[in-house]
Order: sequence, then C-alpha cells, then structure tokens
Amino acid sequence: MAKDTIWIAQIVASKQGEGIFAGLPVVIVRTMVCNLACQKAEGGFDCDTAYTWKAGEMIEGSHLTADEAYSKIMAYNIPAVMLTGGEPLLNQHKEAFRELLKKLYESGVRVHVETNGTQKLDEDIAKYLFFVAISPKQTQYKTFYKPSIAKSYQKVIHAYKFVIRTVENLKDASEWLKDNEIPWGTFVELMPEGITAKDLLKHKAIIDSRGKHMFDGYYMVETSRMQIEEGFA
Ligand code: SF4
Repeated sequence: MAKDTIWIAQIVASKQGEGIFAGLPVVIVRTMVCNLACQKAEGGFDCDTAYTWKAGEMIEGSHLTADEAYSKIMAYNIPAVMLTGGEPLLNQHKEAFRELLKKLYESGVRVHVETNGTQKLDEDIAKYLFFVAISPKQTQYKTFYKPSIAKSYQKVIHAYKFVIRTVENLKDASEWLKDNEIPWGTFVELMPEGITAKDLLKHKAIIDSRGKHMFDGYYMVETSRMQIEEGFA
C-alpha cells in the first residue's frame, strides 16, 4: 500500500519574519492548499502565497512521506520549524502529518505553526507544537470563526495576529477578540499592512496612534515585517 504523504510547496531555511519570534532562524515548511481565498477586492488583504491554492497560479509542489519531509528538514540542522501554507492545519488528520510532527518533537525540534485559525486544533497534535500564530482573516470574521475553535488553541502557547491598514481594521480586530471570547492576557500582534517601507510606516502610525487602548487587557505586541524590511523569505 502506498504511504501517506503531505503536499508541500517548499522546505527552505530562513528566519521568522513576523511576530514575537521575528528574527528566529527556522526551517519553513509550506504546505499546499487553503480553505480561504483572501483578496483585497473583498475588503481583506491579498494572499501572498496564492501559488499554494489558486487555480492558474498553483505550483506543482512535492508529495512527501513523513520520512522524506523529516530528512529534508533535519538536513538544515536548525532546531525550529515554521509550518505554514496555504493552511497547514488542513493536514492535521493525515497520518503522514502526525508522524512528521511526532518525529520532530521527539528530535527536540520546536514546531511553530501559522494558521488562519479556521480549523479546530486536534488535541493529539497540540502536544507536539511549541507555538501557534493565529491570523484571523477579516472577510471571514463572521463566518468561519467561533469560540469553540478559538478555545482549541489554548492548549499551546499562541498569539493572534491582525494585519492593519485602517482604524476600522483595529476596531474589527478588537471586536473579534471579544466575539470569540479570547481571554485577557493573550498575546495580540498588530502588524502593519504593506509590501513597501512607505506603506508599512503609514500603517504603523495608525497602530501607534489608535491601537493601544483598543486592546487593553491583552498583551499587545507591535510586529515588524522583517521579510520586507530586511529582504528574507
Ligand atoms: S488564509 Fe492565508 S494562505 Fe489562505 S488565502 Fe488567506 S492569506 Fe492566503
């Protein structure tokens, strides 16, 4: 019988570009496929990894067994993995994905996950994760999210990340946290939108001037985008 595989767009050594671990050397493991289709035209933000899911833009990627993915990751000799996508947690019920996480955990590799937060985190894999960054997508605030999903992430150290372009974005993010019953003290990362230094500065100014009081009670972190500012993937 053929072995179960994970569809992977890319395995590459880099640094974490955003959030409280910005600057940390990691092996990025980017899975194919996403359940959302984020677009600025719909009031959100354009997806910067459309090649993992969008018809006409998708790359081939590789279908790797747990052993194959594990060997590629370990070859970099970096004890941290950033599992991203697409939406990596769409794979969480796959045998190969679980096996890979277990092998990494048992080897002392710290696995970080970046998710859009629409998937309830399975308890069986939560135990293998070191950190989860959850990035709720604006255009889906009212459809895909609910407190029971948010609660499933509480077993792992985690942070919520919101991309900010306008004061409205700040208000919506603050309401989202309340609607989804996110406990006080949770890490909340506010990240300026933009792919140029000028846009980043403009949107950072909005966070600086209007953001702080809206997130009272949360552990608010302003995050840079080192991948743009310093030019790594
Ligand atoms: S959730 Fe992330 S990967 Fe999926 S479409 Fe939105 S930005 Fe792209």
